Amino acid sequence: MSEILNEILSANKKYASGFKSKSELKSPPKKHFAILTCMDARLDPAKFAGLAEGDAHVIRNAGGRVSDDAIRSLLISHKLLGTDEWFVIQHTSCGMCCVTNEEIDKEFGIENESKKIDWLTFEDNKKCLKEDLEKLKNHSLVPDSIKIHGLIYDVKTGFLEKL
Ligand SMILES: [Zn+2]
Repeated sequence: MSEILNEILSANKKYASGFKSKSELKSPPKKHFAILTCMDARLDPAKFAGLAEGDAHVIRNAGGRVSDDAIRSLLISHKLLGTDEWFVIQHTSCGMCCVTNEEIDKEFGIENESKKIDWLTFEDNKKCLKEDLEKLKNHSLVPDSIKIHGLIYDVKTGFLEKL
């Protein structure tokens, strides 16, 4: 067995032994909101936003970008599970910033046009977040009633800054 798997299973044993009332949690988030953020290991939404199990949806991808799949999850979060406020949280020193699609293609040795992926890289935090918020707000299936916020998390201080 892998060492990491052992560590996870042992940590999980401790966690599950204190599970108690969490078994009664319902699937729709108690606080009726969703966070879309980056997968960066330095970001822990439960900690920086004060969340407990059952409180909110947290959707993560490389960059915390408003990708088609992030939109899919947010729409499900709203329509089927009742969230009506969404937070897009990107961050400083993101690995998807300041690299290009071409550079990432090179990492994979992708030369064939048909194999290319849009890696959703970006150059400027605020510009990127602004464009992503616009994309989300203007999506035909996103109702005007949803409150949508954009924030940037500072990995040096732990503070969130509202765009
Ligand atoms: Zn990131």
